[in-house]
Amino acid sequence: MSAFVESVSLLADRINALEESSTLGMTKKARELAAQGHKVISLSVGEPDFKTPKHICDAAKDAIDAGFHGYSPVAGYADLRQAIADKFKRENNLDWKPENIVVSTGAKHSLANVIQVLVNPGEEVVILAPYWVSYSEMVKLAEGKTVVVEGSFENDFKVTPAQLEAAITGRTRIVMFASPNNPTGSVYSEAELRALAAIIEQHEDIFVLADEIYEHINFTDEGHFSIGTIAAIKDRVITVNGVAKGFAMTGWRIGYIGAAKWIADGVEKLQGQVTSGTNSIAQRATLAALNGPMEPTQEMSKAYARRRDLVVGLLKTIEGFKVNVPQGAFYAFPDVSHYFGKTDGTTTINNCDDLASYLLSEVYVATVSGSGFGAPNCLRISTAASDKNLIEAIERIKTAVQKLK
Ligand code: PMP
Ligand code: GLU
Repeated sequence: MSAFVESVSLLADRINALEESSTLGMTKKARELAAQGHKVISLSVGEPDFKTPKHICDAAKDAIDAGFHGYSPVAGYADLRQAIADKFKRENNLDWKPENIVVSTGAKHSLANVIQVLVNPGEEVVILAPYWVSYSEMVKLAEGKTVVVEGSFENDFKVTPAQLEAAITGRTRIVMFASPNNPTGSVYSEAELRALAAIIEQHEDIFVLADEIYEHINFTDEGHFSIGTIAAIKDRVITVNGVAKGFAMTGWRIGYIGAAKWIADGVEKLQGQVTSGTNSIAQRATLAALNGPMEPTQEMSKAYARRRDLVVGLLKTIEGFKVNVPQGAFYAFPDVSHYFGKTDGTTTINNCDDLASYLLSEVYVATVSGSGFGAPNCLRISTAASDKNLIEAIERIKTAVQKLK
């Protein structure tokens, strides 16, 4: 036995200051309750309920047989970086060469790498809210300062150019956002991105971290537009993407960036000391995903669009829920503040954390509270589940909130 006293206070300050990921925290709780035998429906983690397409799995098996067992180059295999550069050109009209690409262990890792590489202690990162829970904590780990700019429900949760302008200071280093967005499903149009870029253009030292992980799950007629194609700022845009969402490959853990070479080199240097090149077999599978047929991705996206309609329709029948219509990704994000201050006689709902806990303990439906996303009036509901589970989960939510007076 160690002579040391076990104590949280012995953990480094940076870990004690860090919030646990609320998406993963809620998923863990749901798994624990299910293991105890409860009939939990988990609409917490944002994860496709589809399997990875067969041709991608086959490529991974072939890679094992072909002997891809050793360390890969830190920034990824050369042919994969080429395939990513080709994908960026073909689908996004971005002109990156393989030297501008770094492959990492999920888009999460890519984002964290870029923030570590660009942000000095005390520098500011403007985050367009609602935002994905890990953004603010990644900034904290880099000792940066988060400046949250909140898109209103009335503006489809999107930030206006005037709001962005007001948030920028002499210490701003990065503006970061996801479109399509997690948790709201909102999609910034080309016109809206051009208007935001016009503000950024006026501030020479500001970078844009564009998280496009939900690119392929976009229900708008206009489709996806990459802010990195805007000529005036293109050298200052770091585009992050990955295969988790579009190809149902969450567990394979592959993400990547396209960025100016000096930024990509910085990320490679960091990665070379912390994780090395990412998993060799997953990289070979990703090569097959990016160079392969897109029909499976399109089919999945159609299913998400159909479920979006189903879920939005059902949520609108719940008294007091204010529901926006997501234009992409696989989440619904109703404003549930109507229930704050209400009680079922035993439990009082003071905020969205309380409501998420109440739904889990009362009717075994796991959602994620909006507070970690910078939207404390809302609740995130993943629509990446079967119709049957979605219908039953929303019925259970309705029954539970009806008891709150
Ligand atoms: N960005 C957003 C907006 C996300 O929702 C997620 C969650 N998967 C990620 C990045 C990270 O993706 P990955 O699984 O590739 O790390
Ligand atoms: N991005 C997904 C989510 O928001 C996966 C979990 C996570 O990494 O946060 O639920």
